[in-house]
Amino acid sequence: MAANRHPKIRTSETEKQMQNDQQRYQLGAREESGRYPVRVDGKPAGSVYRRHGSWFPVMPGHPMDGRSTNRYGAAELLVAAVDQGKRPTIPVQAARPHTPRALDVATRSYTYLIPDLRPTLPNLVRAAEATARLAELAWKPLAGYPGADQPWMMQCLLCGWEGRRFWSHLRGRNGNGIPRPINRHPGCLPVADHAELIAKHTAELTVTCECEFKHPTTVHKAIDVLSSLQNASAESPLALLYARPVLEPCTAASQRAVALRCALNHLTAQK
Ligand SMILES: [Zn+2]
Ligand SMILES: [Zn+2]
Repeated sequence: MAANRHPKIRTSETEKQMQNDQQRYQLGAREESGRYPVRVDGKPAGSVYRRHGSWFPVMPGHPMDGRSTNRYGAAELLVAAVDQGKRPTIPVQAARPHTPRALDVATRSYTYLIPDLRPTLPNLVRAAEATARLAELAWKPLAGYPGADQPWMMQCLLCGWEGRRFWSHLRGRNGNGIPRPINRHPGCLPVADHAELIAKHTAELTVTCECEFKHPTTVHKAIDVLSSLQNASAESPLALLYARPVLEPCTAASQRAVALRCALNHLTAQK
C-alpha cells in the first residue's frame, strides 16, 4: 500500500510496534468525544485525550495529575495509577457513537473554554473577564483563555474570520481598552463600519443572565460559586467540572465578570 511507504506513517507504525513489545496498555480507537479508551493489563482503565498540544490521562473517579507530549506517555500514566492500586470507580462505558455520555453532554457547553492555565480562582476570573470583553468587542473565543500573551483562537463576529489573536493586543496597551490592530485582522470589513457593526452585536448583551442555566451576576451568587470551586479543590482537573457558572457563554458575561472580580476580592480579603 502506498500509504505505508509514507515516512511519517512508517515511523508511527514502528513506534507502535516498539510499544507493543513491552507495553501493558492498549489504546482503543478515537471516540466521538475525542478520547481514546485505554485498557491496562487487559482491563478498562480510562482514556487519554489531547488538549493544547498535551495528552492527559483520565481515570473515572480519580483526579489524575500529569500530562505527556504523546498519547503513549499519557497511557503510561494510567499504568502507573493502576500500579498505585487505583481502578476506575465509575464504570468505563463502551464507545456508543450515537449516545454520547451524559457528562460530555452536560459539560460540552463550556469545557472547550477551560483556560490553558493552572485552574486557580484568579485564572478562572481572568478568563471570565477576558471572554466578557471579547463579547463587547464582537469576538467569540473558540478555545480557553490561554493567558494575555499567548495566541488565542477566536472568531470575528463581524465577518466570521477565525484565527489567533492576543488578549494583550485586544485589551489595549497597559489595559487602556483600545484594541489593536485597528483593522481587527487582515481581510475584515472596512474599519469605518466597525463601530456600527459592533454596536449591533453588543445590543444583544444583557445585564441580567437570560440563559436557561443561571450564571452568577450578583456578588453574592459569585461568592457562592467561587467558594464551591475552591472547596472542590481548584487544583484538581475534576474541579473544572464545576466551572460551568464561570466559563459557559452567558448573555450577561460582562456583569458576571464584574461580580466574579468583586467576589474574588472579597474571598481574598477574608484570608
Ligand atoms: Zn472580521
Ligand atoms: Zn447566563
